[in-house]
Amino acid sequence: MFKRVAIVGVGFMGGSFSFALQSCFPCEVFGVDINPTALERAKALGAIQEGSTNLEKLSHFRPELVVLATPVRTFEGIAKGLKDILPPRTVITDLGSVKGHIVYRMEEILGENFVGGHPIAGTEKSGVENSIKDLFKGKRTILTPTHRTNREALEKVKELWEAIGSKVEFMDPYDHDVVFGAVSHLPHAVAFALIDALLLLTKKTNIDLFQYPGGGFKDFTRIAASDPIMWRDIFLENKHNILDAIDCYISSLKRLRELIAEERVEELTQYLKESRENRLRIE
Ligand code: NAD
Repeated sequence: MFKRVAIVGVGFMGGSFSFALQSCFPCEVFGVDINPTALERAKALGAIQEGSTNLEKLSHFRPELVVLATPVRTFEGIAKGLKDILPPRTVITDLGSVKGHIVYRMEEILGENFVGGHPIAGTEKSGVENSIKDLFKGKRTILTPTHRTNREALEKVKELWEAIGSKVEFMDPYDHDVVFGAVSHLPHAVAFALIDALLLLTKKTNIDLFQYPGGGFKDFTRIAASDPIMWRDIFLENKHNILDAIDCYISSLKRLRELIAEERVEELTQYLKESRENRLRIE
């Protein structure tokens, strides 16, 4: 296994990944983050042993594995910074929520030792102080190799995820973005929009509706408390799929509106019944 690991972005995911690694096998972790406070916290908590705000410091550390755990729009700049300072056999992977064109761009810059990854685990919280050591246990991790991916690097990254208790699945990078555009990015967009809608209704009714949400509203919108920069990057980098998904959602909502407005009782019951049945199919 990797003995010298660098994590770029020591926030919630970078921190959780580091704790998971260190609890499985002995390794030295070096953190890079643009925020010095994140580095100080990560060091105090034991997520990293050393760290720097300067990516170039990695040339002295000589990592065997580099993990990118920053918002996805920063990946390209970081990859360009890494390309000339890493030992040739260093494996590079990421925890980012969008793959598709990003994976191919990373390969262009970093070469065959880049392995795209996305753990299907998380929360709405950010920052290393909220890290969870067991976050990945029993959860899926999607790896997105291409025809260029070095098989040895892929095998090492797969073994690493399995060692920390994750179930690995392979997926084409573009298929990944269709799937997670629908099941993860759309619900986040809807949750952010629902809060916005409540704000509009508050203005319209002149009643502070934010005083009244119960369990259902809170459950439904929990993910609207997620980090805005992270989600801005995800929406922009998976733009086509999220736009398709939003269009589908709008047409479903329009249909529901129509059935209510026209009091089409049978069809409305059928719409709700089908939705309920399909929801019950999800484990
Ligand atoms: P976070 O905000 O907790 O941590 C991100 C860290 O990256 C911060 O410490 C920030 O200072 C640092 N950073 C930002 N730009 C940087 C740069 N250019 N160079 C170095 N450091 C930089 O966010 P997070 O929740 O840990 O998310 C990190 C990644 O994990 C994202 O790509 C996200 O899509 C992915 N992801 C998140 C979740 C989740 O539930 N939070 C789940 C799956 C995947």
